[in-house]
Order: sequence, then structure tokens, then C-alpha cells
Amino acid sequence: MAESAEQVHARVLAAADEHGRMPLPSVAEWDIFPWEVVDGALVTRPLAPPAPEEPREGEAAADCRICSTDSARVIWSNERWRLKHLDERSGLPLVLILEPFAHLDLPDLDDEMAAEFGTLAVRIVRAVEALPNIARCHASRIGDGATHLHVWFMARTKGLPSVRGSFAVDWDDILPPGPEEPWREDLAAVAASLASYDDRVVD
Ligand SMILES: [Zn+2]
Repeated sequence: MAESAEQVHARVLAAADEHGRMPLPSVAEWDIFPWEVVDGALVTRPLAPPAPEEPREGEAAADCRICSTDSARVIWSNERWRLKHLDERSGLPLVLILEPFAHLDLPDLDDEMAAEFGTLAVRIVRAVEALPNIARCHASRIGDGATHLHVWFMARTKGLPSVRGSFAVDWDDILPPGPEEPWREDLAAVAASLASYDDRVVD
């Protein structure tokens, strides 16, 4: 079972500085980070001038790191899809990635794959939101980094008001990872929930 809001709060405060702040995550150094401090005030960064689109990782399947995903990270799969966790635990209690085995992006899915994607997305969110101490499971496809479709499912802790909305993505980088055992228990619970559908007989 994931930590309660009180447990997360106490653990984070123990790791924070005397003001309760964690160090800035690396995203603050990215050139797409939209804010900066000028003369002591937080302001928006100027919009960068137009530029050619940069190639995404894995434009060719032979160069795609997602195609060669480490199978040890996969918690559930069928013939076409796999659900995996990150290389390492992160700030949110559970972050999962759904991706096709085939080197396809979202617009490449045929109707059958698209329908299955929708079904799996609902099942994953349902399984994660059924976990104790989890309020919500956000689902998102960004796709600016890598060509190979990878959809994020990010769980946030129930009753932790800072970590609501789209900023949960930033808190995932800010907060120190929680303990391993509850994380593994939740991974197993989600995998079991998805497997229960696999066993269902469809007429
Ligand atoms: Zn690929």
C-alpha cells in the first residue's frame, strides 16, 4: 500500500532544507522551462524565436531505445502492448508507461489497436485509482521526446494538496522517492488487476 499523505509529508520534510524546500529538479535548467527569476521576481521567459523541429529520439526503429525496453521493467503485457515502470522510483507513488511492442506512434495505430489502447488506458487508470492512498491517476501522451508511443500513467497521493493537477508531473521530479516495498506491492496489484481481464472469457 502506498504511503499516506501524512507519511509522505513527514518523509519529505525530513529530506528538505530548514524551510521545507527540496532542491530544484533538473527540469529547471531545461531551455523549455517557462519561468525564470529576474531581479528577485519570478517572471515568464521570453518566447524563443521559431526554429526547425528537432528530430525525436528513435526516428528510425533501429535507433529506438523504447524498442529495446528492458523486460525486467514490464509488469504486464499481451501480444501487442506492455506496461512498464520507470528505471527507478520517482517522487509520485506510482508512474507507469504503456507502449506498443511495435515501433508505432499514436497516429500510426489502426482502429483495432486504437480501440485496445482505449480499453487498456481505462483499465490501468481504474486499477491505479483503486489502490489505497491514491486519489487520481493522470494519463498523458506528450511525444516530443521519442517517436515510439509511450503513454504516462501517474498516480498522486490522496490528501496532498500541493500535488494536484498538471504540476504533479513537476512534483514527480521534486519529491524524493518513497520506500521500495509499497511501490512493489502496488505494481503487483496493478499487474494482477490487468491480468484478471486477460483471464476473462469473451463470447
Ligand atoms: Zn521503437
